[in-house]
Amino acid sequence: MNDEKIKSICILGGGTAGWMTAAGLAKKLESLNIEISLVESEQIGTVGVGEATLPHIRYFNKTLGLDEAEFMKATNATIKLGIEFCNWGKLGDRYIHPFGDFGAPIKDVDFYHYWIKLNQQGLAKRLSDYSYPIVAAENGKCRHPSENIHEIESTFGYAYQFDAGLYAKYLRAYAEKKGVHRQEGKVKDVAMQPETGFITTLTLDDDSTIEADLYIDCSGFRGVLIEQSLKTGFDDWSQWLPCNRAIAIPCESAGRIDPYTRATALTAGWQWRIPLQHRTGNGHVYWNEHISDDEALSQLLSNLDGKPLADPNQLYFTTGKRKKLWNKNVVCIGLSGGFLEPLESTSIYLIQEGITALLELFPDKACRPSDQNEYNRRMDLQFDRIRDFLLLHYVATQRDDSPMWQYFSQMTLPDSLTEKINAWTERGLIQRYEHGAFLPPSWVAVMAGQNLIPRGFDPRVNALSDQELNSQTSAIADAIEKAVSQTTDHMDFLKLIGAAIDETKRTRT
Ligand SMILES: Cc1cc2nc3c(=O)[nH]c(=O)nc-3n(C[C@H](O)[C@H](O)[C@H](O)COP(=O)(O)OP(=O)(O)OC[C@H]3O[C@@H](n4cnc5c(N)ncnc54)[C@H](O)[C@@H]3O)c2cc1C
Repeated sequence: MNDEKIKSICILGGGTAGWMTAAGLAKKLESLNIEISLVESEQIGTVGVGEATLPHIRYFNKTLGLDEAEFMKATNATIKLGIEFCNWGKLGDRYIHPFGDFGAPIKDVDFYHYWIKLNQQGLAKRLSDYSYPIVAAENGKCRHPSENIHEIESTFGYAYQFDAGLYAKYLRAYAEKKGVHRQEGKVKDVAMQPETGFITTLTLDDDSTIEADLYIDCSGFRGVLIEQSLKTGFDDWSQWLPCNRAIAIPCESAGRIDPYTRATALTAGWQWRIPLQHRTGNGHVYWNEHISDDEALSQLLSNLDGKPLADPNQLYFTTGKRKKLWNKNVVCIGLSGGFLEPLESTSIYLIQEGITALLELFPDKACRPSDQNEYNRRMDLQFDRIRDFLLLHYVATQRDDSPMWQYFSQMTLPDSLTEKINAWTERGLIQRYEHGAFLPPSWVAVMAGQNLIPRGFDPRVNALSDQELNSQTSAIADAIEKAVSQTTDHMDFLKLIGAAIDETKRTRT
């Protein structure tokens, strides 16, 4: 029976996905004495982007036992309380999608239902004024969430903005300390078992070989094992998310270092701005049918905070996912499994979900179809739901000022997204689901932020008199204003927790 147990795992790829996987498996499988190796090629390199994360990463780091301040210093990390979206609903609009709630439930009914009624009466403040993380972000402040659930400062989470290359390096040191063996080299040949199609051996360019029971393909867009060898197939989602290129460039920081990412909608795509401690990351994601690479670069360069710090990094991609993320004895994690554009910073989250699902379903050598199916079902749901959430940003809009926006205004949506939008616009209902990155407040933030305001609300709201409605909602906004006035400035907070880098490492315009 013991012969059936996995004794060796080979991870192909040493980008963020490879080293997160190596660190996660080394930690969680510690007691099983499995030999874990990782092959990467410096000659090929990594994709070199990916700086904004979701709050879930804190749980990943915690599982590994990382010290927050040390990790933040090592990766030049800042705090991220949400994403500011500019020009999405219409030109001139802006709103923040926060990592946290709006207000707090009143008599078991979500706060936003009260806001809808108040808004219909013309008495509501901005929905944002009832969100602690939004008001804190707008004022450049942050703190750790309170553990007292009765305090308004407990109603949020936070993520990080960091240098993903440095994160991979940090995790490499962690994984190697736990016994992961790194091998430099380029895979030039892959051998498979003729009857089962399972991968048996990788041959590197120096003719050395690696054999393992289970392979994790973290080889990036190439999908060396999952696609080039196993021909698994790809679901192309370009009809929904047609942006297919990006140019990234870091620049010097200027002014306040914001505890949030910014995504500004342009004519044929959008631009990101991610403030780190030592510099700002920027990029333009665009649809090449409607803008040339030169024009995309020139739009990007005209919107930088400060002097560029490197040459532009041009990237090409197709939105979609592998038909199976686990096929035979290969599990693909990271860009080899698929890519959804970085509008909501979901790729590193998907890496984390892939690692978690693999650990929960950790197989023996047989890699049974039932394990594969369950893994693929879970990951498919994750991808589907993120796709819908990203698409929402493009279709909940009044913009029609360029061919790209006109394309979205005529699009037939996936049924799942149509249902979600209808439930919201008719009666303020957000359908909840079991697996998925985005909870109801995220959907509320984007829909309301892009001017999709419901006609109805939960009838239980009417149990409150107009006077009670006014006083209870005002009390929440006042409590938030007061709490934010007492919250520390972002950079002071980093100093306070020991996460600030040396001043000399900062680049400032
Ligand atoms: C424009 C853009 C912006 C993004 N922004 C974000 C963001 O803000 N937040 C976020 O969460 N994610 C973001 N991402 C995604 C993020 O960059 C990736 O998910 C993350 O970097 C993981 O990449 P990876 O490790 O899968 O692939 P890669 O970084 O490409 O690494 C692949 C590895 O495989 C190795 N390799 C490949 N072929 C071979 C071979 N034949 N032999 C040996 N080794 C091989 C390479 O050497 C490398 O080590 C963004 C992606 C893009 C394209």
